[in-house]
Amino acid sequence: MTATNPVDVLQALIRCPSVTPAEAGALDVLENLLSQLGFTVDRMVAKDQDTPDIENLYARAGTDGPHLMFAGHSDVVPVGAETDWSAGPFSGDIRDGMLYGRGAVDMKGGIACFIAAYARLVEAGKVPKGSVSLLITGDEEGPAVNGTVKLLEWAAERGERWDACLVGEPTNPDSLGDMIKIGRRGSVSGTVTVKGVQGHAAYPHLADNPVRGALSLAKSLMFPAFDTGTENFQPSNLEVTTIDVGNAATNVIPASARFKFNIRFNDVWTADSVKAEIIRRLDAASVDPELRPDRAAIGYDIIWSERPSHVFLTRNNALIASLSGAIETVTGKTPKLSTTGGTSDARFIKDYCPVVEFGLVGQTMHMVDERVAVSDLETLTVIYQTFIEQWFAHADA
Ligand SMILES: [Zn+2]
Repeated sequence: MTATNPVDVLQALIRCPSVTPAEAGALDVLENLLSQLGFTVDRMVAKDQDTPDIENLYARAGTDGPHLMFAGHSDVVPVGAETDWSAGPFSGDIRDGMLYGRGAVDMKGGIACFIAAYARLVEAGKVPKGSVSLLITGDEEGPAVNGTVKLLEWAAERGERWDACLVGEPTNPDSLGDMIKIGRRGSVSGTVTVKGVQGHAAYPHLADNPVRGALSLAKSLMFPAFDTGTENFQPSNLEVTTIDVGNAATNVIPASARFKFNIRFNDVWTADSVKAEIIRRLDAASVDPELRPDRAAIGYDIIWSERPSHVFLTRNNALIASLSGAIETVTGKTPKLSTTGGTSDARFIKDYCPVVEFGLVGQTMHMVDERVAVSDLETLTVIYQTFIEQWFAHADA
């Protein structure tokens, strides 16, 4: 295997079936490669209750600042029915210029390109003046309990400090160079239970139908819109994701009704202020007489899901400019600076240093026949190499 060739590195990684929580040799491949490139490699096993132990990897080359971190995950999602794949999901086979396999784009491909980029700098005698580290978790696609959070804490306790981080998740919708992620929306979920009085559907005055109350409360969360968006973020959006009564009879008014919701919120809000707004809306709707004329206020309980994701926006110009500049130099395209999509491990890293995300084209992630263009692997390697050089040049100045 040649470390400077991202295809070689990616094939070796794909051939390790590291479906969360299995390590399956993927970290062995990385440890061997990184050790040869001059990294000090640590493998850290994280444990917690009710969730599998996870092996993670932290590797650092250099001892001084400035310090650039690359973050990613070596685990992959399950393959589904192997027979649905046109090439083995752990084969790494190349056909018509496409390399097939689970993790090709999400995100063993990104890791392979970063290692190849660094290896080319080593080969050219251009090792950056400072430190480069890789923070690779085996628990991004799973519960994410024994992954990035614990690995960051573990490294920080040992005195590790970073000046910037690049996450190599697939960020491009259509082609390489489309999009950098410079932040993420926050996410909060909850369950609302509305209490009623059970009774006969023909005698509603003797009962209190909680479905009526649940509909009023759910509507208050969906309308009006929470905001109209901000300079860097799309409008916040709440979706009611399920309404459950579980009533098998049509002639019985049920005793309670329940609905769940999730809101993706922008930088108008914090997790706390968006929760307060939700309570305000529910309280206002609970006295709305539209569906329940002449009734007392709707009685409801709300339970918040355990850990909200906080919204963040990276405002580190040197970091964003180094990455944008590298993408423009290599592809001729000006990438969009975006905060769209779901959450990522960047939400944990942002507490330690400025973080941006840029990787491969995401179209086939988590799908049957996940694949990456071999030409994209070469292009991303050159982008990463250029980025590393430009970031250290900026950081030095
Ligand atoms: Zn991923």
